[in-house]
Amino acid sequence: MMQTTQVLILGAGAAGLMCAISAGQRKRQVIILDHASRAGNKIRISGGGRCNFTNYFIEPEAYLSNNPHFCKSALSRYTQWDFIALMEKHGLPFHEKEAGQLFSDRKAQAIVDMLLAEIQEVGAQLSLETEIYTVIKTKENQSPYRFQVTTSQGDYLCESLVVATGGLSMPALGASALGYQIAQEFGLSLVPQRAALVPFTLHPQDKAFSASLAGLSINIRAHTAEKSFQGALLFTHRGLSGPAILQISSYWQAGVPVSIHLMPDIDVLKALKEARQAHPKWELKTWLAQYWPQRLAKAWCDYQNWPASVTLSELSNLKLESYAQTIQAWVPNIAGTEGYRTAEVTLGGIDTDELSSKSMQAKQVEGLYFIGEVVDVSGHLGGFNFQWAWSSAWAAGEYV
Ligand SMILES: Cc1cc2nc3c(=O)[nH]c(=O)nc-3n(C[C@H](O)[C@H](O)[C@H](O)COP(=O)(O)OP(=O)(O)OC[C@H]3O[C@@H](n4cnc5c(N)ncnc54)[C@H](O)[C@@H]3O)c2cc1C
Repeated sequence: MMQTTQVLILGAGAAGLMCAISAGQRKRQVIILDHASRAGNKIRISGGGRCNFTNYFIEPEAYLSNNPHFCKSALSRYTQWDFIALMEKHGLPFHEKEAGQLFSDRKAQAIVDMLLAEIQEVGAQLSLETEIYTVIKTKENQSPYRFQVTTSQGDYLCESLVVATGGLSMPALGASALGYQIAQEFGLSLVPQRAALVPFTLHPQDKAFSASLAGLSINIRAHTAEKSFQGALLFTHRGLSGPAILQISSYWQAGVPVSIHLMPDIDVLKALKEARQAHPKWELKTWLAQYWPQRLAKAWCDYQNWPASVTLSELSNLKLESYAQTIQAWVPNIAGTEGYRTAEVTLGGIDTDELSSKSMQAKQVEGLYFIGEVVDVSGHLGGFNFQWAWSSAWAAGEYV
């Protein structure tokens, strides 16, 4: 069976659904295909089930890309305020968690339902459980249809083809490399991909320390030479996680040291010296437990081979300086990351040099568009990735 449509969108995730709405509002005939059995799988599980759908403070600096300017145009034309207005139109309540992060008060499914209601309103058609086999350019005489897509549900001819198949993270939720493959088949270059917003795994000795504290969380500041993030660090059985670690993971590659300030809100040396004056009989772990959970204070002394029973009065200035330095700049021995199994996003993707930042259309292939995470634009944690999906999708929807 051959179906024809003006716009064919591959992927019914955040970007694909939003593009269907945007194009549908322009009265374009739209069909969305997805191999998953439900639309918006990642939206549903995002933000701990409450979907951190955008951020009050969307700014280009919160995005990683080979071209840091590429995201500006789309982000400025469909903004966080536009998505907030959509939530309000559907009466969906939301709240700010921290640093502008906006979460749904209701389950994240409510956001999927909202997008599906909009899709129904504009008359876009959604075909789930549809395997995509091949995508080819039609011969000129088949105009106005530029592409033919062969699927498990038959063939489609379309004028505009939008690739919204996302990144590689969480294959269990339907992630695949299809978008990158299509790009390559049409001669577009790719920026190498890697897992980001992802927990670190540690080498054995550090891993044992971390595993002994699994489940415990403290406030830290993580640094690379390029970037720093303050927030929670969560010790895990495999290594380190928590928002500050996920954020810095996007700036990490093998061989890049990550330095962690374990007491970011205090001047550690000054506090140690003051404690030595005020509480000379305190043991180090007693002092540490003023700032950390007791379990961590003890485990840290064991892990660092710090003398457990020595009192502060017995410690020289030199010793205090060395202890302060270790607390301020712990460099864990990172083995790698947990990879795409748990990563929130994929860095890299379709090289932005290949796309128009206005329409998301491939410069060399008329009618072919790439939107969302499949493009080499990845956001920080905090609603930035969904905003990119909404904004890039809206931009393409205005042109397809
Ligand atoms: C656990 C988790 C939590 C997250 N939480 C947040 C958050 O709170 N806030 C935030 O901003 N970002 C969050 N993200 C990131 C966010 O989910 C993504 O950046 C966003 O979903 C990207 O949208 P997209 O439409 O480009 O891709 P996706 O939403 O991944 O959609 C891609 C779609 O394409 C389909 N597809 C893929 N391959 C094929 C194929 N071969 N054939 C047919 N269909 C295919 C998939 O089934 C999927 O439906 C989270 C990610 C994860 C994994």
